Amino acid sequence: MEDSFLVVVAVLIIAVLLFSWKKGLLSQSRVAKMSEERKGLLNYNVKYYSRLNDKGKELFERKVQEFLARYKITGVDTVVNDTDKILIAASAIIPVFAYPDWEYSVLEEVLVYPDNFNENFLTTGPDRYYRGLVGFGHLDGKLLISRTALYEGFDDFSDKRNTCLHEFIHLIDKEDSKIDGIPSRLLEHKYAIPWMFLMNREMKRINAGESDIHPYATKNAGEFLAVVSEYFFERPDDFQYEHPELFNALRIMFRQPLPRRTIKQ
Ligand SMILES: [Zn+2]
Repeated sequence: MEDSFLVVVAVLIIAVLLFSWKKGLLSQSRVAKMSEERKGLLNYNVKYYSRLNDKGKELFERKVQEFLARYKITGVDTVVNDTDKILIAASAIIPVFAYPDWEYSVLEEVLVYPDNFNENFLTTGPDRYYRGLVGFGHLDGKLLISRTALYEGFDDFSDKRNTCLHEFIHLIDKEDSKIDGIPSRLLEHKYAIPWMFLMNREMKRINAGESDIHPYATKNAGEFLAVVSEYFFERPDDFQYEHPELFNALRIMFRQPLPRRTIKQ
């Protein structure tokens, strides 16, 4: 009786060890080292990455590899290439880079369109106003992005715009089930009221033509968060100089390092 009990225990232990070994292998393959080609793409296209030190770069590369292993990226009437993948992953990682083990719980798949699309998701013809979109209804769990907008977001750092990053900010905001400009997973409860105050004050300034933040930010609080986050990550020095209080709020939210430049008095 005792012998058979020991055998059962031994079998269980072996099963657990085998399971963990396989799991270990899986996670190892997920974090397979990034190829030199991909590192080159990151270095060339993603300023946030190229500014990191060696340790930071290594971490960013691992996060990109993990993102690409975890989430499906599918082309719609186009074939997804490695530049698409790298830029999408970078957009997802930049805002939550300081958050260890972050996962986008509301994301299943990224759909890449060859160009901007209309409300019927057509990339030809008139009214192609959509550059990116967080899917809802039958597209729930999907993030739609136009390749044109994706590339433009990383081409020009002077325009304060990055559509793909903007859409990922919406996804981060949506983690608490509503896109309302208050991303509960990033914003400690005690900061929520001061943040709402800052949002409202800046929206008034934008409406009065007294702010350099894109007017789209006044559409609603969700858009405000996404638009100012684009500015924050695209032009951190200018954003800090022009909007020291907003800068500080976003710096805390995104756990970014302390600024080096003097704040405007
Ligand atoms: Zn938006």
